[in-house]
Amino acid sequence: MSDSKKRQPSIETQVTQALHFVEGETGAVVPSIQPTATYARDENYDIRKPYWYRRDGSQTTAHAEAVIAQLEGAAESLLFSSGMSACTAVIEHLETGAHVVVPEVMYHGVLQQIQIYAAKGRIQVSYYTAGNLQELAAAVKPNITQLVWVETPNNPNWEVTDIQAAADIAHKAGAKLMADCTGTPPSMTKALDFGADFSFHSATKYLNGHSDVTAGVLSVRETGQFWEDIFWVRKLQGTVLTSFDAWLLIRGMRTLFLRVERACENAMKIAKHFVDHPHIEAVLYPGLETDPGHEVAKRQTNGQFGAMLSLIVKGCEQDAIDVTRFCEIFYPATSLGGVESLIEHRKTVSGEGFPVHERLLRLSIGIESTDDLIYDLEQAIERTFH
Ligand SMILES: *Cc1c(COP(=O)(O)O)cnc(C)c1O
Repeated sequence: MSDSKKRQPSIETQVTQALHFVEGETGAVVPSIQPTATYARDENYDIRKPYWYRRDGSQTTAHAEAVIAQLEGAAESLLFSSGMSACTAVIEHLETGAHVVVPEVMYHGVLQQIQIYAAKGRIQVSYYTAGNLQELAAAVKPNITQLVWVETPNNPNWEVTDIQAAADIAHKAGAKLMADCTGTPPSMTKALDFGADFSFHSATKYLNGHSDVTAGVLSVRETGQFWEDIFWVRKLQGTVLTSFDAWLLIRGMRTLFLRVERACENAMKIAKHFVDHPHIEAVLYPGLETDPGHEVAKRQTNGQFGAMLSLIVKGCEQDAIDVTRFCEIFYPATSLGGVESLIEHRKTVSGEGFPVHERLLRLSIGIESTDDLIYDLEQAIERTFH
């Protein structure tokens, strides 16, 4: 077969094989972990590029970054020690006094960080209702706003924001668009393809998928001075991902497509099961045809919709808390994107002062048997309302 006819391996194959990794000397198909904190200079006392100290990065971390860059269709990706340190690096690299536009309700850690920076006068913030493009457009100040932040789907109500439309609004005003798509990993949403300038994922969640690493990743279509600045924030703050965690992440990503497909199927079945349930007031899930974000989610998530959903329980706040207490298969824990299913009373977790419905249960659906998961929720609801 001539080279021009040769089939290029699909992204599923590339990610599963960690970019067809083969170790040069041994032929090992799994990379070694390189934990070194420092690197010897060469015989001329020059630095052996690209590393001279661990805070620059490492071979293992760079390998994980290469896999994610491939997934995202990115020029480059940078891995941080947590999603929060990656988000913080983006805020840090802005000029003092920069105007940013963010959703009023979003992942609480990021919102808290933005509010702390705003209170110190380090940045200026305007808010919009998650998913509402008119409000987003109204909050953007032409030639003043530097960054527009979207989270889609948006915690914890799973509003969907049209990334392409948000990017157009941001770019027209001369601002960059940051897209936090943690809820739908790059196997289903490639934010850069929709025009985002930064694609962000908490790799703690779906990318790793096994609840045993905290990591965050930023990806860009084009590099430039701003990207260099962000690299230096990571280097000087020492927030690069460790080699051990990068290795676990590479291993976790090998099953990304399989895990996510199964989790989304489970989520859809669970969401449909609880629509019109006598003890459930509402099911918040973009996969439902009645959901306001359904059409945009469909094209933005490769038809998969994600595996995060929320249930608004009837009754009182304590009833919602009781459902989480009575679950025997769902873990009553925060976080998301692991193979195991989690349930949380979001108001308790986000803390006072954060606008979230008092009877909202946030569910991260894993890859267990759907029947077991539905049975578990049903028995917990039954015990709550008996
Ligand atoms: C978890 C999460 C973060 C923060 O990531 P960490 O890895 O926990 O620091 C940011 N955004 C969203 C949407 C998240 O779910």
